[in-house]
Amino acid sequence: MKIEEIEFVYKKIPLERSFATATGGVSNSSSFFVRISTDEGIVGYGCGYPTSGTGEDVKSATYFSNLFKQDIFGMNPIRIESINSVMDSITYGNPAVKFAFNTALWDIFGKAHDSPLYMLLGYNRPKIPTSITIGLNDRDTMLKEARYWHKKGFSHLKVKLGADADAGLDVLSSIRAELGPDVNIRADANGSLALNDARRLVGVAKDLDIEFLEQPVSDEGGMVELTETSPIRIMADELIGDKYHLPRLLGKRAFHLANIKLNRFGGITNALRMIDCCELFEVPCMLGCMSENAISISASLHLALAHTNVKYVDLDTFLFLKHQPAKGLNIKKGIMRPSSSPGLGLEVDERIFKKA
Ligand SMILES: [Mg+2]
Repeated sequence: MKIEEIEFVYKKIPLERSFATATGGVSNSSSFFVRISTDEGIVGYGCGYPTSGTGEDVKSATYFSNLFKQDIFGMNPIRIESINSVMDSITYGNPAVKFAFNTALWDIFGKAHDSPLYMLLGYNRPKIPTSITIGLNDRDTMLKEARYWHKKGFSHLKVKLGADADAGLDVLSSIRAELGPDVNIRADANGSLALNDARRLVGVAKDLDIEFLEQPVSDEGGMVELTETSPIRIMADELIGDKYHLPRLLGKRAFHLANIKLNRFGGITNALRMIDCCELFEVPCMLGCMSENAISISASLHLALAHTNVKYVDLDTFLFLKHQPAKGLNIKKGIMRPSSSPGLGLEVDERIFKKA
């Protein structure tokens, strides 16, 4: 089998409503779609999100896609490791555009073996609950959002916190008081808390039965201290720079849990190494996402269902998009499962690739 054609296109998909975190707001999903076709008629799809968060933009994504295309054209697409090496030799960074290519290759791999991808990657479980993110806002708005998703059957909430620890605690205790003890509440400060405030917050969060706190402070020293002393578990997200940075942080015991985002680390192939690496340090992982659609969310979901060291997923953003570029990703009462079709299991809307 040979790669016969590679197409890519950038589209902005608007969100139903804009979404805020401690580091800024998002109103669009900046989507870089890739379609790889083979001489055997198998077609694979991927999508990445080149943003300031990954140090990329549409220009760099297009530039590097053209270089990747020149070098991998004619290769066997299931030589995924070899193709990753080619991409890494062209650029060290640019994880989002690599994620798009890597996902399309894994989609082809699944289709070539006529099996859903998670079954080929190891098949630990057939479904998993995702958390739904409650964006940063005033208390009443956040409470209203939490109520809305809880009514829809979501039992895992991820609550965004800002620099104001008291406001954060107020939101967390209000949600706990209103929704009761059965709801799973996680929190994410996106590195915005001062260390003193974070120390105080984790003490109260323990009494509120908060499952874990993601990236309370931004710096490594603060994370190490909190990991040693916090009564609730601390998760790293933004702290982890890339796959080579991860083992150094694990050696320093800078977190209890790791949030691995395929868009930040270049796709399934790299994430597999990182999740394995975490397992060796007894650090369970969550698979998270940026503002992503069903194509890339499916890549994360298949990996999550395959690997025993993925204990949590936060793969909700496709629910916030105004329109979906693919069908086949199922979610019911917060429980995610892919379709039984091969590869990513998606039916992609081909109109995406129509030239304007
Ligand atoms: Mg986070």
